[in-house]
Amino acid sequence: MAWHSYNTYRKGLHYHSQLSQTAALLDSSREAIEAFQRVRLGKLIRHAYYTTPYYRELLETDTPDITQIPPLEKENIREHLERLCSDRFTEQERIKNATGGSTGTPLTFYQGRYYWNQRNLSVYYFDRWAGWNHGEPQLVIWGAPADIKGDEDWKHRLNTFWRNQYWLNGFHLTDEEMQATYERMNRCRPQTILTYPSSLYQFATFLYENGLVHKWSLKGIISSAEMLHPHYRALAEEVFRTKVYNRYGGREVGLIAMECTEGRMHINCRDIYLEIDSPNPYAVPGEILITQLNNYVMPFIRYRIGDIGILSDEICPCGNQLPILDDLLGRTTATFRTRTGALVHGGYFTQQFYGIEGVSQFQIIQESLKHCVLKLVINKDWTEASRRYLVHGIQKVLGGDVVVTIEFVEEIPLPTSGKRQFTISKVTADTD
Ligand SMILES: [Zn+2]
Repeated sequence: MAWHSYNTYRKGLHYHSQLSQTAALLDSSREAIEAFQRVRLGKLIRHAYYTTPYYRELLETDTPDITQIPPLEKENIREHLERLCSDRFTEQERIKNATGGSTGTPLTFYQGRYYWNQRNLSVYYFDRWAGWNHGEPQLVIWGAPADIKGDEDWKHRLNTFWRNQYWLNGFHLTDEEMQATYERMNRCRPQTILTYPSSLYQFATFLYENGLVHKWSLKGIISSAEMLHPHYRALAEEVFRTKVYNRYGGREVGLIAMECTEGRMHINCRDIYLEIDSPNPYAVPGEILITQLNNYVMPFIRYRIGDIGILSDEICPCGNQLPILDDLLGRTTATFRTRTGALVHGGYFTQQFYGIEGVSQFQIIQESLKHCVLKLVINKDWTEASRRYLVHGIQKVLGGDVVVTIEFVEEIPLPTSGKRQFTISKVTADTD
């Protein structure tokens, strides 16, 4: 216990000085932020050019025009993992990480200790926007097995202790666990909740249906790792009587953007240089390209993360001058492709279900350019009109002759990653 206290104290001192430096930059003027990014971008690209075989071959100079660098695709990482790693770091200095990936094929990559320190500082900084302060109790409804099991378990416990968090497994939210968590919440009184939106929605629904009302006021809820649907947000804000803050990030690159009190998503410019692959990023949505400014072990330059977005040129009324990601069109676990080669974002399909009471759960799978499967868990409100509406919605964008097969199922299981996939496309760019 004494060691714990000492460690907490020691870490706390270090943390406060680093956090104030982080805040000084992220709270500064647009000009200062842009100047910082130019320096960091130049440094990273030079490092990539001189120390990684991949970029040495790809780039013609150590000071290229960034807009001319070919985006880093997931296939490039799968194919050239070793060649993407910097020779300035030993294998022992690489920290392995992975995602489930859009097609269920895991993507493995490496990050460095420096990356992780910076990433954690950003999380601490941005979580303060949602009301979290160092040391205050936080309820975490999470559950990616890679995050909480195995060798890292003791580290997790230490971190949990240090951060004063307590956890509820977001993958298996049974009524008993939710009831117990509600009671524990009333005792521990967390100031914030950190969670997946789908788990938040499930927990909020449970509290709502059982008339359970918590007895203190929460400062905010941080929703991360999945698309925050408007009806999830609406229910959670009603049940918990507080604001939900959307946090956008990815395991590959860390925290990308965070919602402020005014509801705008500010880009984490200290860690991330974000571009939109579009002729006009302020008017035409395009794929998001991420350059991670702190991962020197394996540089990610213009990484195509698989989401679609659009920028805003406004200065936010909240006072923070970090640029704004105006619209984030969900995770492109699914970008659908039509026979004419057009791209349709998966968010289009999920929107078709808003307001359809008869569907409890759904998943749409584009099997081929001519065939879609719609898996549905339905309830007593299901009608034939809903079926026609959904089929029409799919055919409207993919083509009138696309066959839509509806499968009624008991449940749609969560994939091992824990991230629900509402939309899946098996069609790739080179499919006939
Ligand atoms: Zn703002």
